Amino acid sequence: MFDTLTDSFKNAIGKIRFQDDTKALKKATTELKKSLLKADVHHKVVKGLITTVEHETNKNGIGKDNFLRALHGELTSILTVKGNQGFVFASKPPTVVLMIGLQGSGKTTTTGKLAYFLKEQKKKKVLIVAADLQRLAAVEQLKQISGQIEVELVADESKRPQDIVKIALKKAEKELYDVVLIDTAGRLAIDEELMDELESIKKIAKPDELFYVADAMTGQDAVRTAQTFKEKVGITGVVLSKFDGDGKGGVALGISQQVGVPLRFIGNGEKMPDLEQFIPERIVGRLMGAGDIEGLAEKTSSVIDEKEAKRISQKIKKGQFSFNDFLDQMEQMKKLGSMKSLMGMIPGMGNMAKQLGDMDLDNSDEIKRIKALISSMTPKERENPEILTNSRKRRISAGAGLEQQQVNRILKQFKNAAKMAKKFSGKGGMKQMQDLMGQMQGGGGVASLPR
Ligand code: GDP
Ligand code: MG
Repeated sequence: MFDTLTDSFKNAIGKIRFQDDTKALKKATTELKKSLLKADVHHKVVKGLITTVEHETNKNGIGKDNFLRALHGELTSILTVKGNQGFVFASKPPTVVLMIGLQGSGKTTTTGKLAYFLKEQKKKKVLIVAADLQRLAAVEQLKQISGQIEVELVADESKRPQDIVKIALKKAEKELYDVVLIDTAGRLAIDEELMDELESIKKIAKPDELFYVADAMTGQDAVRTAQTFKEKVGITGVVLSKFDGDGKGGVALGISQQVGVPLRFIGNGEKMPDLEQFIPERIVGRLMGAGDIEGLAEKTSSVIDEKEAKRISQKIKKGQFSFNDFLDQMEQMKKLGSMKSLMGMIPGMGNMAKQLGDMDLDNSDEIKRIKALISSMTPKERENPEILTNSRKRRISAGAGLEQQQVNRILKQFKNAAKMAKKFSGKGGMKQMQDLMGQMQGGGGVASLPR
């Protein structure tokens, strides 16, 4: 959902062609203003941003570089408010987090995602607590989620939420848990009784963090309700769920500043891996089309087995990357969550992500074709792509039910992928890739921000 914003920044930057051209600067900021408002960024935030960018650019001299620098600086300052960034562990474990918000905002799902993130990426021992005893289905839902991600759950429908929390905290202390995530019932800030309950849970839990989970699709309403919860019970972070929906994304840009509490995470899908840390400097990079290499590395390192990665990269270096490795890699990719959110993190790939939509690695026709193709090969062929003669190719295409042309195309893609992989597997590979991506954007593009 950052695509629209990224596009509008790109457009605005493109407007500035000449030095000292006040008209061009005005055109750029007008364009920027229009698209930010269209993306549902709050008008006050937009006004502040435009004013500062105009002022800074004028002061330093109108030109692309100065405009970029001003925009980069102002975006960073808008997103950076006092408070923790991403997930911060308490100095003394366990770190206790209270998940609060309106009904249906995504609290339970986000609790699961956060547990999964902490377990898989941070290698922490996590305990989930079901303090939503309003609805039977709620406990059931949490049981299912915690079972799926193999995280311990404390739940007991016959007890009051306050008592469950006490039991859970004792357990966490005794069994040395690193993090305790408490999922609470959804409530409206005007519901006095439920707000009192929340207050008493808070007293008992003494949370290090209170995460307000807001539905991104509700736009500015997400901001208003977060403000109310901040006043009534206090919050230390905001999580925007359903960022993959058809909301406009602008709310993520303004919410930290508007509420005065940092946005910490973004949920962008229904599956457990679909959660991203919101780290301002990384997000600014992404907004300006430079991708989020760090975030990508973090995400991939959690699912890709290090030994396996080493083995593969050795093979790639020696030019021995095989079809079996290719299939393995695709299986690994599936664990990373939606293709679209991953692509968005690669520099210059934001546009491609849009075209991909929510490509499902299980169901895409292309993946099916590739799998059929590989299944029709002999074990020897799978390990030695170079032995594929024309007669072998004919046999394989008949076996896989594919046209000869399709087979040739896939084999060519595979060859290119292996070649690229080999090229980037050496020292400085990532740097090389970034350079290449920069070039693909036509050099001097948004990605090549002057430092
Ligand atoms: P709660 O009532 O606040 O606990 O909300 P739930 O966690 O039960 O979520 C409500 C609905 O929103 C469920 O159908 C979730 O699958 C869905 N949901 C939650 N987070 C996301 C998200 O990031 N993206 C999408 N597409 N759906 C989400
Ligand atoms: Mg719930």
